[in-house]
Amino acid sequence: MTSPSPSYAVGTAMARPTLSVDLTAIAANTELFCRIATGEVMAVVKADGFGHGAAEVARAALTAGATRLGVATIEEALALRAAGLRAPVLSWLNPVTADWRAASAAGVEVAVPSIEHLQAVAEVGGARVHLEIDAGLARDGCAPRGWLALCRAARAAERAGRLHVVGLMGHLPCADRAEDHSNSVGRTRFAWALEAARSAGLRPHDLHLAATSATLLDPRSHHTMSRIGAGLYGIDPTRTTALRPALTLTAPVVETRTVLAGTGVGYGHAWTAPRSSRLGLIPLGYADGLPRSASTGAEMHVAGERVPVVGRISMDMTVVDLTGTTATVGDTVTVLGPGDDGEPTVREWAEWSGELEHEIVTGISSGPGSRVRRTAGPAATVLRGLS
Ligand SMILES: *Cc1c(COP(=O)(O)O)cnc(C)c1O
Repeated sequence: MTSPSPSYAVGTAMARPTLSVDLTAIAANTELFCRIATGEVMAVVKADGFGHGAAEVARAALTAGATRLGVATIEEALALRAAGLRAPVLSWLNPVTADWRAASAAGVEVAVPSIEHLQAVAEVGGARVHLEIDAGLARDGCAPRGWLALCRAARAAERAGRLHVVGLMGHLPCADRAEDHSNSVGRTRFAWALEAARSAGLRPHDLHLAATSATLLDPRSHHTMSRIGAGLYGIDPTRTTALRPALTLTAPVVETRTVLAGTGVGYGHAWTAPRSSRLGLIPLGYADGLPRSASTGAEMHVAGERVPVVGRISMDMTVVDLTGTTATVGDTVTVLGPGDDGEPTVREWAEWSGELEHEIVTGISSGPGSRVRRTAGPAATVLRGLS
């Protein structure tokens, strides 16, 4: 046999997997949306700021020109308050039994999609409310058939001093496709809903229909405010605009080994070494958010080169083929980043896995108790954190 015998090397003290959040990218994206949007920009920081850290993103976006914050749940809004953020916050996804009292006490504005929600909010008193019309998703928001009744009940509650209707919101189903007919249907329905609200005596001043895609593609949807989520994080579903990705995910090579041609690697032996191969073990798996469906075709970046993922991504670890590179134990692998140095991007991971970029960024598990350490800062700080 001329093949090398299997060898084995183990790293000792080395860096943990790290998710670096470049807040200068968030700020640059925010500034761009502030220029494009006709009205105000609400920074959508739900799902822990799409996995980037809600409070850090919120601060960066507000400094860069956003004037409002948006989240799904009241709990998310209260967490922003607890982190010291005083800007206006809107929460739009809550059960009728939500803690409306806590929302009111913290000055959190709430979306109201139904009579039942309205009654619960009115009972507590003092809320600033955005009535929510279903502009075509058939998911959240009040269906047109119940809209007039909702507006009349809201006006009655307002006259009774129980709440104040400050806004009207809707959300579009296919805004990333400029030509989709549902966009004009949604715009028309939103305009109709506003007329109906006004004729019921309501005077909402925050009128918002557009999220990232509609803000980029259709000024007719802008009204007085755009709710920007994906775009803040460098994700452009419309593929029309140069946005800056903010995440870099790195991990150390913790082991290397050389295997003989014909060696099956990982669960199910989904990959067999076609030649003698030097393999690297990366301590990140699907529990950390690497999509297992990307096991075929995915790449990482180490020692200046792209290396292929081989075998199945498992829960805690992934194997890469280091054959022909200088990469060794302790070297830092870049799993994803903005792409400046040739590393894979979130968009590539989305293509490899068949997922959305949104799923990739929100899927990386970096919250309390997780194995990935998250650091946030301006680029210079982030880079220091990496070394
Ligand atoms: C998530 C969300 C947004 C942000 O959408 P993007 O396309 O990520 O900008 C806006 N509005 C509502 C109601 C949402 O749920």
